[in-house]
Amino acid sequence: LTPDEFRALGHLFVDAVADARAGIERHPVRDVVEPGTVRARFPREANEDPEPLAAFPSLVEAVTGDADTRWQHPGFHAFFPANASLTSLLGELLSGGAGAQGMLWSTSPACTEVEQAVTDQLARALGLDEAFTHDGGGGGSIQDSASSAALVALTAALHRAAPDPDSGWRVRGVTGRERVYVTAETHSSLAKAVRVAGLGSGGLRTVPCTPGSRAMDPAALADTLAADVAAGLVPVLVCATVGTTSTGSSDPVAALVTAARPYRAWVHVDAAWAGVAALCPEHRWVLDGVNPGPGPGVDSFCTDAHKWLLTAFDASLLWVRDARALPAALSITPAYLRDAHSDSGAVVDFRDWQVPLGRRFRALKLWAVLHGQGLSGLRSHLRGHVDLAAELAERIRGHDDLELACAPVLSLVCLRSRSGDAGTTALLERANADGRVLLTGTEVDGHPVVRVAFGGVTTGREHLDVVWDVLSARS
Ligand code: PLP
Repeated sequence: LTPDEFRALGHLFVDAVADARAGIERHPVRDVVEPGTVRARFPREANEDPEPLAAFPSLVEAVTGDADTRWQHPGFHAFFPANASLTSLLGELLSGGAGAQGMLWSTSPACTEVEQAVTDQLARALGLDEAFTHDGGGGGSIQDSASSAALVALTAALHRAAPDPDSGWRVRGVTGRERVYVTAETHSSLAKAVRVAGLGSGGLRTVPCTPGSRAMDPAALADTLAADVAAGLVPVLVCATVGTTSTGSSDPVAALVTAARPYRAWVHVDAAWAGVAALCPEHRWVLDGVNPGPGPGVDSFCTDAHKWLLTAFDASLLWVRDARALPAALSITPAYLRDAHSDSGAVVDFRDWQVPLGRRFRALKLWAVLHGQGLSGLRSHLRGHVDLAAELAERIRGHDDLELACAPVLSLVCLRSRSGDAGTTALLERANADGRVLLTGTEVDGHPVVRVAFGGVTTGREHLDVVWDVLSARS
């Protein structure tokens, strides 16, 4: 395509996106299809000759338009949201247009420094200590996912636990004695990180929660750490979750830091969903124990802008307190990556903060969101959904057949039928069969629960009424 052809076609493609968003509520949140439906519409072989791109949006619509799950539908309250705001898509367009590869500072100073600037701005807006900024000796990076963030934090932790350049983790790998501490509520991405890092399932210690809670018991952590060290094992990383996936529960970060400190275990906070709420002063409790202050603070903090912060996937924010920690674990410099600026030590090469070498200019979509919404716009986005959750909880409290399974957290409500497990399972099926909403389930204390996670880009009060309509309808 020439730039002029791109300009002309671009209007058609933008129209297709805008039309799809404008008409999204004419569709169910989720189409019900048989596996293989979409693939069956493809010829076996790719077309040999060029086809006109002007027809591509309608081709995509014809092939996929009745076989999708619409994550951008305002009735999508499943899992956690995946905000692909149109604002962020405009930033994505500029990022794709630049086509920059920001693996080293010198391969795209703009990509690197916008990312540094935007993560520093966001750290300040969230209320993270200056120690987490690039200006303050730490720094933020944009990872593809919270799962990757946990994995790279684990590599930094493994290196810190055995830094010897001749015989440490970087040289000999894991010994099988390394341990990572989580709870039964921790996201499965931590178990995956442990497996990828080669620790095996024995590397994962599931610490009990305080009785009656879904939060890690600091005393149990202290006991487990002491017993492990006595047995010759090496505590490497403690993962504290703020806003668990199932119910939104949070671990007591400060107390866990205190328990981990004598063993120099790395403390990572996974606040993939809830962390962005710190933009609102009234929700800043999500940072309790994270910053150095009364306590020592944590080593790394992660929250996903691609969940609830209006930024299209992928944009997971990972801040570390020590800017040297990730490069120390991950940097490998063959001759073809040698670079005078890198050697000078005066720049950040983000390739050393992640697993892949190459990286996209992800910061542009986040910058577009910050620029176009302002912090005030982001706060009202978050507050609107927290209000919806509070109102849904209120309605549930006053209902004869429904009850809260636990206290709502931010924009997440977990509920069940008073009639028991079968009634709760039927409630979820009935709600989703309606087509106007999509909810997911989980288990609390071994019993099924229905989750309503508000947070869609265009989810507003009228969508709460739809949720209520489907949940409160008698079977
Ligand atoms: N951590 C928590 C608490 C989550 O809820 C999720 C996803 O929902 C993740 C991690 C994984 O997120 P990602 O898809 O960014 O890896």
